[in-house]
Amino acid sequence: MSDTFQQLADSVLAGNPATPDDALAVLRADDSELIPLVAAISRLRRAHFSNRVKVNYLVNLKSGLCPENCNYCSQALGSTAPVLKYSWLSEEEALEQAAAGIGGGAARVCLVASGRGPSNRDIDRVADVVAALKEQHPGVEICACLGLLSDGQAERLKEAGVDAYNHNITTAASHHDKIVQTHTYADRVDTVEKAKSAGLSPCSGLIAGLGETDEQLVEALFALKELNSDSIPVNFLMPFDGTPMAGTWELTPARCVKILAMARLVCPDTEIRIAGGREMHLRSLQPLALHVANSVFLGDYLTSEGQDAAADLEMIRDNGFVVEGSADDHQTERPQPAAPAIRRRGAGTDVLPNA
Ligand code: SF4
Repeated sequence: MSDTFQQLADSVLAGNPATPDDALAVLRADDSELIPLVAAISRLRRAHFSNRVKVNYLVNLKSGLCPENCNYCSQALGSTAPVLKYSWLSEEEALEQAAAGIGGGAARVCLVASGRGPSNRDIDRVADVVAALKEQHPGVEICACLGLLSDGQAERLKEAGVDAYNHNITTAASHHDKIVQTHTYADRVDTVEKAKSAGLSPCSGLIAGLGETDEQLVEALFALKELNSDSIPVNFLMPFDGTPMAGTWELTPARCVKILAMARLVCPDTEIRIAGGREMHLRSLQPLALHVANSVFLGDYLTSEGQDAAADLEMIRDNGFVVEGSADDHQTERPQPAAPAIRRRGAGTDVLPNA
């Protein structure tokens, strides 16, 4: 089988796109074949991204209180998960949060707000934060993630200096309605298309472990390829207590690596980001996953703690990778980041930061 994975990599490197059957073969590889699989698929990662890792940082502008019912989400309508709830960080707080991530080496800041979608006033508020951020940190990429967009809003974000827009398709079209009922899969695709039409770089990904079949994971990956998503965040379900998905544990570390390897095979030159649930589900296989994925979030997630940011950077360096844009990255010039202490939970509330 290991020869088969090498042949698959050869074929994709030669410019032949992977088929759904190829993707299924990767997903269903025996655990004993994990190292040969990663060895083969890592050639695609190296060919397109060398040994660089893109570091992204989340700023949760607005947390909880969402009227939508995404079953996996701790911020959803009906969720009793004890997450921080606040309505919009002040511009000063948002800039402070973003600066912490940038100081830690983040090349991209993701400005996220819970909710079905932004009002035009919300767009203005985000535009102000973006203008100030771009002035203070001219080289940083900014991705907005504000939910479903109405006509004209993507253009307004683009004018304000936003580089990318994230809206995940989350799961296969054939599985979507089991996971959320307050909006449709088509609504999600429509927002990704609006972002693309406005010239924003599309960022759209998925969550694995939502009860989908192998075929549905493959379906979601090919849908993302079809959408031409420039970056694909691959999340692994964190089954929060207080949500309908509580107690759903379908993933193993080896399966998570195979899912990332499949994403790399299907979309060889696309940024594949290991997103939420990385520490919980990949556990000791996090470094192995970096051989197929090329992007991570630094530190905490939207409503949960991640690995300490210093440990993220150490893991990247220890395994022979370099942070994109750092002094170690000879493709771009940037000062070496100081070891960061950038816990941000508590922002926007009276709760103290957790470190
Ligand atoms: S994923 Fe977004 S839209 Fe869905 S419930 Fe959570 S915050 Fe709301």
